[in-house]
Amino acid sequence: MMERNIYNEEHLLFAQSVRDFVAKEIVPYNAQWEKDHMVSRESWLKFGESGFLCMQVAEEYGGLGIQDFRYNAIVTEELARTGCAGPAVGYPLHSDIVCPYIEHYGTEAVKKKWLPKMVSGEAIAAIAMTEPGAGSDLQGMRATAVDKGDYYVVNGSKTFITNGYLSDVVVVAVKTDPTKGAKGISLLVMDTAMKGFTKGKPFEKVGLHAQDTCELFFENVEVPKENLLGKEGEGFKYLMTELSQERLVVALSAIGAAEGALASTVQYTKDRVAFGKPIAELQNTRYKLAEVATEIQIGRVFIDRCVELHCEKKLDQASASMAKYWLTDLQSKAADECLQLHGGYGYIWEYQVARAWADARVQRIYAGTNEIMKELIARSVLK
Ligand SMILES: Cc1cc2nc3c(=O)[nH]c(=O)nc-3n(C[C@H](O)[C@H](O)[C@H](O)COP(=O)(O)OP(=O)(O)OC[C@H]3O[C@@H](n4cnc5c(N)ncnc54)[C@H](O)[C@@H]3O)c2cc1C
Repeated sequence: MMERNIYNEEHLLFAQSVRDFVAKEIVPYNAQWEKDHMVSRESWLKFGESGFLCMQVAEEYGGLGIQDFRYNAIVTEELARTGCAGPAVGYPLHSDIVCPYIEHYGTEAVKKKWLPKMVSGEAIAAIAMTEPGAGSDLQGMRATAVDKGDYYVVNGSKTFITNGYLSDVVVVAVKTDPTKGAKGISLLVMDTAMKGFTKGKPFEKVGLHAQDTCELFFENVEVPKENLLGKEGEGFKYLMTELSQERLVVALSAIGAAEGALASTVQYTKDRVAFGKPIAELQNTRYKLAEVATEIQIGRVFIDRCVELHCEKKLDQASASMAKYWLTDLQSKAADECLQLHGGYGYIWEYQVARAWADARVQRIYAGTNEIMKELIARSVLK
């Protein structure tokens, strides 16, 4: 396989430490978390204690101040490779998707209150954009925040919120001016303990069984003005700015998961015997594995380049969208081919490949559907 050159020796040592942690502290507990529909709080705390959550946060807010996104990328990839999708989706969402909003646009009071706890894992974070009636078309959202002087009164609901059930802090997109479309959207930091804030039960999903995805409801929730992120009416602009990293994170988890599925399938085909020899010796198996490995390698080269560009703050929105769409499609295709090579065992939940197949499906839907990604790419192509 091609040598990767985006990681130096320190990165590789770090990757090994994440791999060791995941093998010891995550893999053995995953089956229980899937039954519970959530990862344990204890696991969040252990992950935080090991320094793997929100590593980029400045030291004054309790973080390590690591400004090299390669470290964040390593955490996402290593989690995804094991096929433990609950933490593999929830932890990077907390660290690399929600945390930047608070770091970049939060008031001093909000940063002081939440960042140290997000670093330690004491506070679990979520982001709530989608509503029952508005997903891709975010401008159609209906949750409102009415200005009452020192505070806003928030009413409405959000759905499909990752980390939702366990969440302590949520970045919520609301309409501060319902007459204005995108320019009427603002982002508020909400404490889930606020009066009038309630949560639904975790959804029964096709995959991501250890993910506590749920609905959130707001009934006359009073949110102090200091919880506004940035300026009123600029929420949509902040979302557009930060979504490139979200797409990159999903693409990284896609390639990690595809690599994990391939590795477990290679082993399976060497062990499984049919017609007197390992199925790895059958021409179809060999060609399928060759095809999947080739596509993963092509994806790997592209995503590594995206990570490099992101570290230089040069990753454009279209390239991030290409990575999200192409790699999540690849993940689904790879998982499907790998499942087929397992025969009936591929359909049995305790096999990593069965979970890989089910967990892959939603990656093409959230963080902007792959159709929306193609829209964004087309806009840049046709510009
Ligand atoms: C497990 C899970 C976790 C999630 N986590 C979060 C989260 O943490 N926070 C959050 O805010 N949301 C989250 N979501 C929501 C997710 O981002 C949305 O489901 C997604 O954006 C699609 O929105 P929708 O479901 O309303 O589908 P719709 O927008 O109704 O789309 C339906 C279909 O129409 C297509 N479509 C819509 N508009 C266009 C267009 N302009 N051009 C072409 N095709 C189009 C879509 O691609 C899709 O195929 C999560 C969803 C799931 C399932």
